[in-house]
Amino acid sequence: MPSVETVNGPIDVDELGRTLIHEHFRAVDEATRFQFPHLYDEAEEWDVAMADANAVKGHGIRTVVEPSAMFLTRDAAFSKRVADESGLQVVLATGVYTYDHLPQSLLNRDEDQLADIFVHEIEHGIQRTDIKPAFIKCAADEPGITPNIEKVHRAAARASNRTGKPIMAHSRPASGTGHEQMRIFTEEGVDAAKVQIAHTGDTDDLDYIEKLLETGCFIGLDRYGLDVFLPTEQRQATTLALLDRGYAERMFLSQDYTSSIDWFPREVQAYLKANEVPDWSMTFLFEKVIPELKERGMTDEQLDQMMVENPKRWLGS
Ligand SMILES: [Zn+2]
Repeated sequence: MPSVETVNGPIDVDELGRTLIHEHFRAVDEATRFQFPHLYDEAEEWDVAMADANAVKGHGIRTVVEPSAMFLTRDAAFSKRVADESGLQVVLATGVYTYDHLPQSLLNRDEDQLADIFVHEIEHGIQRTDIKPAFIKCAADEPGITPNIEKVHRAAARASNRTGKPIMAHSRPASGTGHEQMRIFTEEGVDAAKVQIAHTGDTDDLDYIEKLLETGCFIGLDRYGLDVFLPTEQRQATTLALLDRGYAERMFLSQDYTSSIDWFPREVQAYLKANEVPDWSMTFLFEKVIPELKERGMTDEQLDQMMVENPKRWLGS
């Protein structure tokens, strides 16, 4: 039986249960946080994270995969506290979340030296804890595959090849990054079944999506509620069309929600939440998306495939 690392040690894949494959209990910039801590309210961050953890648990979720890496304040101790106090299982990643920028410390290391860093965490633990990452995270967005992004992807691929750990790659369909990311992984010899191209559900272009699926990777339909990238109705139609074409074994449903985020000043954030992404939450799937997909023909088997079986297959691959 394959096992998966959680913040409380390895478990059999069968113990994962119903899993949200892409949510964050906190997503803030660690440099800003360290230098300007007055911008942050730790007690409030903790309260909203716990409220979300308890809410998803109430909807039958046993495991939350939290793909926070460098630059999203991945904090193993914080995530372990969320798991301990909620009873959820939380799964973490190693890797770097950047669209191009790298600090000198990583600019002046090559692909293999970056891979060494990821492998060190996989073998020894994150941030000097014994909490180990279950997968490797990288990202490509609007700037596309810049030299820095290519380096991080090749490093992720080499760390995966050395350890057998799967990869989650943040993508931007509007820039067509998914295909480029898969090209790099294939060149590096990574088994496509170990790769999840996150945020593929930000497009309803079925040709783009099917071409990705032909490689054998998993895709994330994982930003439900983020209408700024694609409104819910188009996400629903895309999910149903893909289920209809028989791709349930390659799909994940999630929201890429984050309990707290520092990307905008507080008042702007409140405005955006109310006006641009009113539905975005860690429970939108259960309140609206899943009931409606069921009404429109999704079977219980297809739902289980996406939320129970696929997490086992990808994380245990
Ligand atoms: Zn995310």
